[in-house]
Amino acid sequence: MRRFLIAGNWKMNLDRKGSDSLARSLAEHYPSPGNVDVAVFPPSVYLQTVARILDGSAVGWGAQNMYHQGNGAYTGEISSAMLLDVGCRYVILGHSERRVLMDETDLKVNAKALAALATDLTPVVCLGETLEQREAGKTQEVIKRQFEASLAGIPAEMIAGVVIAYEPVWAIGTGKVATGDQAQEVHADLRKMLVSRYNSQFAEQVRILYGGSVKPDNAIDLLGRPDIDGALVGGASLKSDSFADIVAAAFALA
Ligand code: PEP
Repeated sequence: MRRFLIAGNWKMNLDRKGSDSLARSLAEHYPSPGNVDVAVFPPSVYLQTVARILDGSAVGWGAQNMYHQGNGAYTGEISSAMLLDVGCRYVILGHSERRVLMDETDLKVNAKALAALATDLTPVVCLGETLEQREAGKTQEVIKRQFEASLAGIPAEMIAGVVIAYEPVWAIGTGKVATGDQAQEVHADLRKMLVSRYNSQFAEQVRILYGGSVKPDNAIDLLGRPDIDGALVGGASLKSDSFADIVAAAFALA
């Protein structure tokens, strides 16, 4: 059975004091491993201090982005080796905010995903449709295109090391959550895409998270769906109580 992963994307929020105290609170909540994986994604400048606090706890950490090259003259960028060096297990790639605001294309996301996998870093590859695309009945087509291009060239034996996050753009930071049925429909489609590209055995191993206004009061409905294997949480991950309530929902279903 796939383990739930509840991932907190702090985005460009919190200062050093705030990051430290949130990390401290999570380390106290989850001192030892349970049936649910928990991870946070602080701003990269705070990764190292958060890592020191979380080290030895059950909470993993990762970065919100990386560059696909190993090292060199790439001012402002961070490589997967550097992330591993500060203990990251995960990296978020292709978040819709980066796709829209920083011109992150499927091609770039794919190069980063391959580079992350090559160094044993787990990419959390985000995809999702806009409201306009959903209303035009293009959700399936958009998701398929992003799936094919962002995850191109990943061999079968590596696909279990990828986490996919379905994040409808219209649900991110808006308070408009996809219903459990809407989310499950897309997750089931993604699972079918994995089956047809690989096979059902490989497809069953891949975790597909839902993201977009996940809160304590909708977590059970979403996480209770057969193809939803966790949540990528933005706003509600910035307070330890609301994040812990979402993690508790996963524990209740695990
Ligand atoms: C996100 O940042 O990935 C996200 C889903 O944000 P929010 O939970 O605030 O909608």
